Amino acid sequence: MLIDNHNRQINYLRLAVTDRCNLRCNYCMPAEGIDFVKNDKLLTIDELIQVGRILVGQGIDKIRITGGEPFVRKDLMVLLRALSQMKGLNDISVTTNATLIGPHIDELKQLGIKNVNVSLDSINRETFERITRRKQFDTVHNNLIRLITEGFNVRINFIVLDGQNVQDMIPILEVMKHHKVSVRFLEEMPFNGGSKKFTDIKWNHRAILEHITKAFPNFEKLESPATSTSVNFKIRGHAGTFGIIPSFSRTFCGSCNRLRVTATGDVITCLYGKPKANLRQVIRGNNSTGDIEQAILKAVGSRAKTGFDAQEEHAVTVFENSMTSIGG
Ligand code: SAM
Ligand code: SF4
Repeated sequence: MLIDNHNRQINYLRLAVTDRCNLRCNYCMPAEGIDFVKNDKLLTIDELIQVGRILVGQGIDKIRITGGEPFVRKDLMVLLRALSQMKGLNDISVTTNATLIGPHIDELKQLGIKNVNVSLDSINRETFERITRRKQFDTVHNNLIRLITEGFNVRINFIVLDGQNVQDMIPILEVMKHHKVSVRFLEEMPFNGGSKKFTDIKWNHRAILEHITKAFPNFEKLESPATSTSVNFKIRGHAGTFGIIPSFSRTFCGSCNRLRVTATGDVITCLYGKPKANLRQVIRGNNSTGDIEQAILKAVGSRAKTGFDAQEEHAVTVFENSMTSIGG
């Protein structure tokens, strides 16, 4: 079992498989993209499987595949097939922009991978294209509908962006009224590859809830697991739910159960912190499984207590990073 130095159990891994993406969401990276890493710095599929196997052996029972866009990686399904066979791994999920998932939906279902988070920040074509800087609205829309109708547990991630998509918050809840989908509104974080700097946000979790309350006063707060980053609600008469994730306000650090491994093998123990080890180097240094386990234990043993403490470790450079490199 992985226990950090603040006595928090770590059982959830966010595993990034690439830093590349076919969209250019303006809250995530600049229009020209970021300095994507060279291929030889990315963990190979065998290395990703090795990392997954070791961490599952250490007590990880939930893995979320992320990126960059996971499905730009042509060999992604090889990894998912291997993960789906791992004993002790109870939950495999994927976070995707839903542009490239279409051809894989049937196999995902066969593998029992049913938890899919779709990032969708607008239900309006123009707004979607302005935010993502690409013309993929129809593909995303069609894939989303397919995922919902085929019975996947779909959660929509909607980043609330001042001046860009606030007008879509209520309509997306209305559109999803008859679907068993959870729409989660996230606070924007300044991990955009340095394209926009800010120290405060207008649309924090309180402002988001207040805005929704005005349109839908009849909702109830739901019980959520202690480790949940979202506070969840159900509007009367709606089939699904909505959630709010205070990703910038960071009210959830006390119960954080997450570990991140980036596509280059960096071990990140807090989204706001510096990498604590690099598993690619440890693996390629011909080290034993025991050495890799030790590197992970050492990283987990020196975790910052909160995202604010972690940010202090590299206050000047923390926000030069892009979410496409960290994995969200
Ligand atoms: N490409 C996939 C996607 O967009 O779903 C997976 C990777 S993306 C980096 C993971 C999550 O991070 C997405 O839900 C995305 O919306 C979120 N994200 C990216 N940049 C963000 C930012 N600056 N603030 C908050 N969330 C962000
Ligand atoms: Fe790509 Fe996801 Fe970043 Fe958008 S949020 S640019 S889809 S990695």
